Amino acid sequence: MKITHIEHIGIAVKNLEESIKYYEKVLGLKCYSIEEVKDQKVKTAFFKVGQTKIELLESTDSEGPIGKFISKNGEGLHHMAFATEDVDASLKEAEAKGIRVIDKISRKGAEGLNIGFLHPKSTFGVLTELCEKK
Ligand code: ZN
Repeated sequence: MKITHIEHIGIAVKNLEESIKYYEKVLGLKCYSIEEVKDQKVKTAFFKVGQTKIELLESTDSEGPIGKFISKNGEGLHHMAFATEDVDASLKEAEAKGIRVIDKISRKGAEGLNIGFLHPKSTFGVLTELCEKK
């Protein structure tokens, strides 16, 4: 697959408003978008850092993926997202190389990106997202 850059880093937080204050008032970044992704049961906030973004994720449901992650691990680094040219082809390639994939085919993520995840058990502990601008 052809990875071009780190598209974003996903961070699980308990409270979006509170964590946005830290990124804006301490780090001096600017939140440019807040978006709810209903099928992932999250509210997201985005910051640009060069060509990479920070994606803060607050769960809207304790049974959703981020809610479960926080109750197990607490707040913190959740996933790393690489930009690739073709998510479906990349997922297929990873699977063919023996990697456990969470998504066999791409789906819609925040910011209208096509996304798909690789399982952390196959990626040395890092939940890995592949994404592609359509
Ligand atoms: Zn993400």
